[in-house]
Amino acid sequence: MSSPSVNPSLERLRTPVQFLKGVGPQRAEKLAKLNIFTALDLLFFFPRDYQDVRDVIPIAQLVEDEIASVIGTVEEISLRNTAPGRSVLGVLIRSDEQYLRAIWFNQPFLRRRFSEGRRVLMSGKPTLNGLRWEMAHPIAEVLEDEQEEIGGKILPVYSLTEGIRQGAMRRLVHHAVEDYRKEIEEVLPQTFLDEHGLMPVHDAILQIHAPDDHDARAAAQRRFIYQELLVLQLALAVRRYQLTSNRHSMSIPIDGRIDERIRRLIPFELTEAQNQAVAEVTRDLALDVPMNRLLQGDVGSGKTIVALYAMLAAVAAGAQAALMAPTEVLARQHVRTLGKLLAKAKVNVGLLTGTLTEKQRRELLAQLAAGEVQLLVGTQAIIASEIEFHKLGLVVIDEQHKFGVKQRGQLRGAGLDPHYLVMTATPIPRTIAMSLFGDLDVSSIREAPPGRQPVHTYIGTEEEREKWWKFFRKKLREGRQGYVVAPLVDESSSADSASAEQLLETLSNGELEEFRLGLLHGRMSAEDKEETMRKFRAGEIQALVSTSVIEVGVDVPNAVVMTIEGGERFGLAQLHQLRGRISRGSHAGFLCIFADPKTDHSRERLEALAKSNDGFELAELDFRLRGPGDLFGFKQHGMPPLRIADLQRDGDLLEKARADARSIIAADPALADAKWEKLRRMVFIRYGKSLEIGDIA
Ligand code: ADP
Ligand code: MG
Repeated sequence: MSSPSVNPSLERLRTPVQFLKGVGPQRAEKLAKLNIFTALDLLFFFPRDYQDVRDVIPIAQLVEDEIASVIGTVEEISLRNTAPGRSVLGVLIRSDEQYLRAIWFNQPFLRRRFSEGRRVLMSGKPTLNGLRWEMAHPIAEVLEDEQEEIGGKILPVYSLTEGIRQGAMRRLVHHAVEDYRKEIEEVLPQTFLDEHGLMPVHDAILQIHAPDDHDARAAAQRRFIYQELLVLQLALAVRRYQLTSNRHSMSIPIDGRIDERIRRLIPFELTEAQNQAVAEVTRDLALDVPMNRLLQGDVGSGKTIVALYAMLAAVAAGAQAALMAPTEVLARQHVRTLGKLLAKAKVNVGLLTGTLTEKQRRELLAQLAAGEVQLLVGTQAIIASEIEFHKLGLVVIDEQHKFGVKQRGQLRGAGLDPHYLVMTATPIPRTIAMSLFGDLDVSSIREAPPGRQPVHTYIGTEEEREKWWKFFRKKLREGRQGYVVAPLVDESSSADSASAEQLLETLSNGELEEFRLGLLHGRMSAEDKEETMRKFRAGEIQALVSTSVIEVGVDVPNAVVMTIEGGERFGLAQLHQLRGRISRGSHAGFLCIFADPKTDHSRERLEALAKSNDGFELAELDFRLRGPGDLFGFKQHGMPPLRIADLQRDGDLLEKARADARSIIAADPALADAKWEKLRRMVFIRYGKSLEIGDIA
């Protein structure tokens, strides 16, 4: 698209990559697989790593166990199978009559990269095997001809695709940087660059691809990482501003009398952490601008009651409140809890789910419009139904991870906006919370209700199975109840349900044959699920065999034992959630996970779970174990993934970007100042849609 108003530099940067020096139609097709379509894409295709070849030394100068790089010619390649699925690849290189053997275990596919007579660079830790130098799993690179004369350089290492070699990729990027670098716009004002010590973009693009030294490389990376995080945090700050400015909500003041009336309905004393959260929520509710608050707390920390307190406060102020849960089972559980609290009060609670008949649904909507139903509980059907409330004051979203950023805004409606309270299922790592929920204020509950017993967690081996089931049966005979979680197969298919059905079959003819068992899985109708849950709560079912649908929120305090099969297939947060089902009452919980951990990470995950009951700690650990580049919910939340920033590594820059973004927006909420024009455009192009922010400048 060309129009006279478009910046000619931008036009040039949109040149299809095919027309760039050294590319052509065939390579363009291959680059497309790496999402490189234009000159701009190639410039911003940053190295995934660097190889420091300034320290290439002759093989004769290697020192045992000291990491070094050597260059040599491939003399001999051998690939041996040592056992089924096991192999050893050896590549012997020679230089000045000195030899070194590089070895790779179980990576036979690397064989293709080498051929005899080619020159290769190997970097790694050398060891002496007899008289011969060896390197196990070195970084290896087949050198292109013109790279013969390497010296004094830090080479970029790019991600590749079939048919494009490292050397070729380096050349393509090199030409693109030479020819197009100057066309890139500097989106940050000079004064801003100076104040924050950021490298200007033209230097940064050069130094990130062809660094002079490590300091220059680090400065270049820092500039792009910071910029990416700043753009995200600006978008969130704009959203936060737009969610509150020029928007009005009903003020819901809570005086001592109302507070006392609400607390009288609650059958226990709130913990200090809960009281703190209640105080933060009520302070927000009293204002006539919408609350946008995230309530995070560990599984079983008692978030629900904080939400119910806020809902009752809304009703006391003459408003309606809606509570949205991720599943029908949970929605019904909330209705029951509310029903108990409100047994003596004259408050009507409605339940809206996808399984209402058309007639029931119409009736309920009419009652909501007339204000006869003050509290509405439901599933996502609440959003889908285009409800006209009489006077909606508050929306609570439970177990947020199932809802996207967008859905948060959908009950906004004309006139007054409701207050929003969003609850997470498990604690979220700090940097994630700052990114995915950066537009919200945060309350955290870090303390469990009194008398809560920790869950004893075991990782069971096959030999221990019999012993464990014996213990499980003992607990059931004592009158306690239990869960058995079937291996996760594929949440989106019927395979999960089949796996649970099969497990039920096995158990009812084996380990648990003397007990009353029930089945719960995603393919059952809502009525069947509800009936099963009723029986389980009533103790008619002693052990519930299920898929991970019990993961969120289900609250049956008498259930204290749990077996998880196929534990290696679940994530750490998910396992912690599941475990949360058996730490609800005053009896100690016991969990045994049978697993076949295939990787060190899955073993580490399981061990961490056995060691710690602290969801906040586990969330951070899980995040670290997932490794860099894990999108952790960005996609699920409909947000574009970060390209260079890494929320694990770049926490400090994130804090800085957030503080800077907030102060920029506080001074200039619409980024209207001319100096922000380019940055503003970038913010809205990247996040306008996903964060539903409007460009108001
Ligand atoms: P979650 O934060 O996981 O949603 P819930 O709100 O379901 O946890 O609370 C877990 C259990 O703890 C419920 O049975 C609830 O009634 C109970 N509970 C919550 N707060 C307290 C408290 N202050 N004292 C005693 N029990 C509490
Ligand atoms: Mg809950």
